[in-house]
Amino acid sequence: VQSEIAEKEEYTPAVSLVDIFFKAKELERKGFDVIHFDAGEPDFPPPEQVVDATVRALKEGHGRYTESGGISAAKNAVADSLNKKYGQNITPKQVLVTAGGRLALYYAFLSLPGKTKVGILSPDWPAYRDISNFLSLPIQFFKSTLESGWEVDLDEVRRSDCKAIVLNYPNNPTGKILESKTFEELVQIANDKGMTIISDEVYSDYVLNPTKKFKSILEMPETKSIFLTSLSKSYAMTGFRAAYIVSDPLTIARMIKINSMIITSMPEFVQYGIIAALNCDDYVKDKVKLIGKRRDVAARALKKYLDAEFYESDGSMYMFPRLHSKKGFFNSEKFALELLESQSVSVTPGTSFGSSFLDHIRIPLLQSEARIDEGIERMSKVLG
Ligand code: PMP
Repeated sequence: VQSEIAEKEEYTPAVSLVDIFFKAKELERKGFDVIHFDAGEPDFPPPEQVVDATVRALKEGHGRYTESGGISAAKNAVADSLNKKYGQNITPKQVLVTAGGRLALYYAFLSLPGKTKVGILSPDWPAYRDISNFLSLPIQFFKSTLESGWEVDLDEVRRSDCKAIVLNYPNNPTGKILESKTFEELVQIANDKGMTIISDEVYSDYVLNPTKKFKSILEMPETKSIFLTSLSKSYAMTGFRAAYIVSDPLTIARMIKINSMIITSMPEFVQYGIIAALNCDDYVKDKVKLIGKRRDVAARALKKYLDAEFYESDGSMYMFPRLHSKKGFFNSEKFALELLESQSVSVTPGTSFGSSFLDHIRIPLLQSEARIDEGIERMSKVLG
């Protein structure tokens, strides 16, 4: 079954993340105690300073339109924070502040010339495929496997005729961070082939394995790249819809025009929230520790209760194990439905991240340690 599905890139999952998410919400309304392993939304609140700064800004009358690329104070804060983090000289002209990572990604894809063939490293967060398809951009998938430790096949990239490639490290869903040397080699190949690199770094703060060093595309300033990140994960600001893009001034100027056409500007008070967030280093450090501990709990529970193979995530907020069932071939779509209906645990089937991952599920590390342990134990009741 799996190899048949793997042939078809156009495969649409029978059960998607959204299906599971809404079914879980419905069960909850009926009073069931649902353990959520569905959406990637932090279970902790944003920093108090962020909420205070946002409310204060509103009270002080900052609820207006702003410059389309963002207010200077926000763009300066972004440039300063990135320069401090990565030792670069990014200027505010290279920054666009906009309403969420998804929109930022959409702008990144929109800025590619029409019909640009886009390389997507799979498993992949589904938005890359959805946006490419929506904009009629052809896709080439570069598949990786659990067996290879989710490594990229660099030769495959070398042989391809893509003119853009999307990178997402630390990765959703696999938790992979490439070794710096591999990352540099991949970027070199992309440069040699004249590819634009779209680097989605929304999980860059979540480096869970202290021996791993995460390298940002911003540390390779000679590269033709579009960097984007969001405040949704590092600061739990999902509903604020706050993100920023960094690229060369010309690309940013073009994106500012698009931003102006689509939303005029992002809400002014949210931009004050961004400025406050960029001063909350201790908050972020705490959350990274928290997610790291949960990763260890999930790994222990997977070994204790299930027949599972997995890569011990070195970053992001997810685990992406392959499961085996005592009852025969493990089908994550059927399993997700059965698990939700019989055990009130909601998981995303692996096929949401690519057609060849039918025997994987994604577990977000966004529940307490006890709930993660219990959720995984409940899975064993379905798997036998
Ligand atoms: N990129 C990746 C890899 C993500 O997982 C997400 C959110 N799940 C985003 C971007 C976008 O997040 P947001 O739109 O909340 O900023």
